[in-house]
Formats: sequence, C-alpha cells, structure tokens
Amino acid sequence: MIFETHAHYDDAAFDLDRNELLSAMPDSGIGTIINVGASLKSTEASIKLADKYAFIYAAAGVHPSETAELTEENFKWLEDQCHNKKVVAVGEIGLDYYWDEPGHEIQKFWFQRQLDLAHKINKPVIIHSRDAAKDTFDILASNNVGRIGGVIHCFSYSTDFALHYVEMGLYIGIGGVVTFKNGKKLKEVVEAVPIEKILLETDSPYLAPEPNRGKRNSSLNIPYIAQMIAEIKGLTYDKVVKITEENARRMYQIL
Ligand SMILES: [Zn+2]
Repeated sequence: MIFETHAHYDDAAFDLDRNELLSAMPDSGIGTIINVGASLKSTEASIKLADKYAFIYAAAGVHPSETAELTEENFKWLEDQCHNKKVVAVGEIGLDYYWDEPGHEIQKFWFQRQLDLAHKINKPVIIHSRDAAKDTFDILASNNVGRIGGVIHCFSYSTDFALHYVEMGLYIGIGGVVTFKNGKKLKEVVEAVPIEKILLETDSPYLAPEPNRGKRNSSLNIPYIAQMIAEIKGLTYDKVVKITEENARRMYQIL
C-alpha cells in the first residue's frame, strides 16, 4: 500500500473533515502516513494524531521558519517527545532562505541542534531546504547524516545535488511538483535517482498535483505522483508503490 511520507493533517485546512478523511485512508490504499511537525505546537498535534490512528506516525521537529520560538527549555521538551514510540523521525528541520526571518544564523544554529538530537536518539531526519542549497548541503555533509539516514523532502534542487545526497545515504522526497507542466527539472531528478532512493509524499495541505493543482491537497492524490514516476522510470504503477513503501519502511524503521 501507499506510504505517504510527509503530510500536515494537524493543519487548520483539515479542521472540518479531518476524522472522516483520515478514517477513509486505509480503504483508499493509503497504508501509512507520517504526520510531520513544523513547530512545537504541530509536533504535539502530530503525536496526538499518531496516538489516535494506528497507521499514522509522527515526526518531531521545528521548521526553519519557526526556529525563533526555540529556547533551551522548550528544546528539552522537544527531545522528550522524541522518545514516544510513534515518533519515527526528527523533522521537518533545515534552512529556508526564501523568507528573511529568522536570520540565517538562527536557522543554522537550530538546524545543527536538531541534527545533534537526531544522532543522539538514532532517528532519521526530514530535511526542508528552500533557496539554501549550498548551506544545507555543507551542513549535512559535515554531520555524517548517512549514519541516521533521512530524506530531502519536496526536493527542489538540481540532479547533481540529488545524486550527491543519494551518495550521502539520503532519500529524495518526490511530491506534486513532478506532475506540473513546469516540473521539468524535477522529472529529470526522478529519471536520474534510483527508484530505491525515492519516497512518495504530498506535503498536504500544500502542493496538490495535477489535475488538482491549487486545491487542498491530501494523501488521496498520491496515485497521480506515483503514476508520473512510473511513466518517467518505465515501471508499472504497482511496482513504484511497492518499492517506495519498502524504501520508507527501511528509512523510518517501520518494519
Ligand atoms: Zn512539510
């Protein structure tokens, strides 16, 4: 079954129908979902969802754009959450230079601290990186990230970077952008990266694939992404679903 590696079902966009939508996932072929924390509040909400639904797991972490909220005190709280048995990764963490705030030094400081945390608890990382290709790469390269593993989520950089990350032992997260008419660069990345290193994701409620581009996204749209990957790689749809599920189980240690 489909393994959705990146969604935000705690988002207010799901307030009106969250339970109906999530309850229907297994019958719609969505076997496992990682609900990814992006702040302290959403980490808490992700863990609540994971407690409620057997097929949902949580990632605990603070998105680079939210790092101004971090202090030594609440960072300790974040670390405590990582010992919950349904927390399978630290994320999403990284660098986002698209926005001016918080400053790059603050983002880098808490990126490093959260990488240290992942090493300490032996869990993989979910990396968010936007307009920060070189700094992200340099930090991950100097942190022996292959030891814990992880994924560059919603990959948006060049094929060259993708292959270097694969060499480093990381996975490449592919979402709705691969179905866009202007998604040529990402299609080239999918062509070059071995299928054994690709994970399926949506980043719901954002980035819905064609033909639903612009609407609220949900894991129910993953088949459009898997189908596009199947076409690019000359594999069957079923094979893409099966191999990417195995990849995600290996990375998140959900066996
Ligand atoms: Zn996300």
